[in-house]
Amino acid sequence: MALVNTDLGKALPLIASGKVRELYDVDAKTLLFVATDRISAYDVVMKNGVPDKGLILTLITAHWFEYLRKCHPDLRTHFISLELPPTVPQQLVPQLKGRSMLVRKYKVFPVEAIVRGYITGSAWSSYKKTGEVNGKKLPEGLQESQELPEPIYTPSTKAELGQHDENISTEQAEQIVGAKYAKRIEDLALKIYKTARDYAKEKGIIIADTKFEFGLDEETDEVVLIDEVLTPDSSRFWSKATYTIGQGQDSFDKQFLRDWLTKNGLKGQDDVTMPPDVVEATRAKYMEAFKILTGKTLDQTLQELK
Ligand code: ATP
Ligand code: MG
Repeated sequence: MALVNTDLGKALPLIASGKVRELYDVDAKTLLFVATDRISAYDVVMKNGVPDKGLILTLITAHWFEYLRKCHPDLRTHFISLELPPTVPQQLVPQLKGRSMLVRKYKVFPVEAIVRGYITGSAWSSYKKTGEVNGKKLPEGLQESQELPEPIYTPSTKAELGQHDENISTEQAEQIVGAKYAKRIEDLALKIYKTARDYAKEKGIIIADTKFEFGLDEETDEVVLIDEVLTPDSSRFWSKATYTIGQGQDSFDKQFLRDWLTKNGLKGQDDVTMPPDVVEATRAKYMEAFKILTGKTLDQTLQELK
C-alpha cells in the first residue's frame, strides 16, 4: 500500500500539507519534512499513491545535498539529518523512516528559482511565439528540446495552493525579494544546476530543467537551499539514450500516467484512481531514476539507514 497520508498529526503539529509533502513542527527552529507517496499529474493529485515514491524523493534529495556540499563546501542547505525526532511514536517509525528529513526552518523566498538547460515546456511555447523566455531574448533557430548555449534562470512566482505559478522576469524577481537576494538566488541556482547537470549526464539522465527554492537565514543573512532538490518531481529528467532533438521528450517518470490519463479522457479530473499497471510502471521509473542517480538500490540505501 502506498502511504497517501501519515498518522503523525496526532503527535506533532502539522503546519502545512502540499500536493506531496507534509510539514511538521519539531521545535521553533526545526521541521520534519515528510514526503508521502502521493502523485500529481496535470496539477491534480491522484486518489491512490505510488508505493515508495516518498522514500525515493527524500533519499534522492539527501543524496544531492551530500554531493552538492562536497562540490561546493560553502553551500548552505536546510538539511539536518534523516533521523526522526524522539517525539515520533514508535509505531509510526516504519512508515516515516527514510521518507522524512529533519530540516532547519527558514523564511521562504516567494519565488521559484527555475533553471533551464534545454528548451521545452512553457519556455518552448513562449520562444516559438516571441523568441523570448521570461523577457530574455534567445538565439534564433533553436529547435524543441535543444540544449541552450548556456543554462538560463527563469524565475516564477510561488503561487498559493490551487493557483498557478506565473513566469516573471529577473527584474520582477528583484522587486519581490530585493536586488541583493535576487542576485544571490540566481547565481546559486545556476551554479547548482550546472553541477547536477554534469553529474546526471555522466550517468545517463538529462536534467532538462529544474526548480529550486531558497530560504533566508535571518541570523546570518545567508541564502539557504531548501525544499526537495533535483528530484523527478521538481525537474524534467530525460533519458540520454532516447533523447532526440526537434520533438517533445518523454519525461522519465510521469509519462505512463499522463498518457493513461489522456487516453482515458481523465486529464485534469479530480478523484482519479490509477489502475495497478499504471502504478507499477510509474513506480519502476522512479526506482530507475533513484538507481541511476545514487548508484544504489532503494533497499540498499534503506539498509544503510538502519
Ligand atoms: P505543491 O508541491 O503542492 O505544488 P509545494 O511545493 O508548495 O506545493 P510541497 O512540496 O508538498 O508543496 O511542500 C513543501 C513546502 O515546504 C513548500 O511550500 C516549501 O516552500 C516549504 N519548505 C521547504 N523547505 C522549507 C524550510 N526549510 N523552511 C520552511 N519551509 C520550507
Ligand atoms: Mg514542492
